[in-house]
Amino acid sequence: MDSHTVLYGVIGDPIRHSKSPVMLNRAFRESGINGAYGAFHVEPKRLGEAIAGIRALGFRGLNVTIPHKIEVMAHLDDIDESARAIGAVNTIVNEDGRLVGYNTDGIGYVRSLKEEAEPELAGKKIVVVGCGGAARGIVWALTRENPGAIVLANRTAERARELAASFASAEVSAVPWESLREACGDADVVINTTSVGMSPNVDATPLDPAWLRPGAVASDLIYNPLTTAFLKGAAERGCRIHGGLGMFVYQGAYAFEYWTGRPAPAEAMRQAVLESFGAAEPSPLQR
Ligand code: NAP
Repeated sequence: MDSHTVLYGVIGDPIRHSKSPVMLNRAFRESGINGAYGAFHVEPKRLGEAIAGIRALGFRGLNVTIPHKIEVMAHLDDIDESARAIGAVNTIVNEDGRLVGYNTDGIGYVRSLKEEAEPELAGKKIVVVGCGGAARGIVWALTRENPGAIVLANRTAERARELAASFASAEVSAVPWESLREACGDADVVINTTSVGMSPNVDATPLDPAWLRPGAVASDLIYNPLTTAFLKGAAERGCRIHGGLGMFVYQGAYAFEYWTGRPAPAEAMRQAVLESFGAAEPSPLQR
């Protein structure tokens, strides 16, 4: 760092578990950019002060994580169309003092799904299991790919109905949780967006992988563990599997690209996260 270093960071509460500093600092180093990225613990009551600090100190960019993704929008000068539609911001770009909010979670997920598991989503039947905060951005980004159908199912059925209704699009529909098995039977892609199976509850699955047809894609947003029990079961069934690490890498890659205007070194970013887990390079199946 020197007096020309451009500053970036992530705010959240809690924040010490975040892998974003390891990943983005590797990206700056790899790209020869004089940038530095830190993690900042910001409590909800100090969010406004934190954003004022970003303006005053001239940070070029900021990532925003739980619990600030919705409330931060009130402190920005402009919000990109996709973040507005999703109703949450995870990336801020400081354009000469004007703070602009974006959402890279959904597009990061879809880029990862297309590059690592299923390049063509047009016409496909996609089942989204879970309708929490992460599902919203993912469904929005999936609708841009002209799928044949997006079917939503959530343990609390009302949330699935609300999410489907908010898209007002013929291809997005909700089914009761009890109908999930039937919905999965002829699906091309089944995505777990619930937190079921996340460490330490690594043996739990939100649905029986045997409900998927062999050859379908089983996808999981969870990246700790890298291969969840749902994905292990689906691989045994003959499905193609796709873990959550790629989504994390690509949401950060898009943020890097918005901030710097340069292509993100996604492979180096992925390796940085894996090294921080103490994990070896996963097999292509796990990616
Ligand atoms: P969230 O808003 O808290 O939503 C949690 C979802 O899980 C809800 O749909 C909830 O259903 C469902 N759920 C929880 N326990 C369940 C159970 N026992 N059975 C069935 N459904 C259950 O969380 P989120 O922010 O959307 O995150 C969801 C997951 O995605 C987390 O594991 C998170 O780590 C992961 N994620 C990954 C990335 C990435 O970069 N790879 C990014 C964001 C999130 P109800 O509505 O019925 O409670």
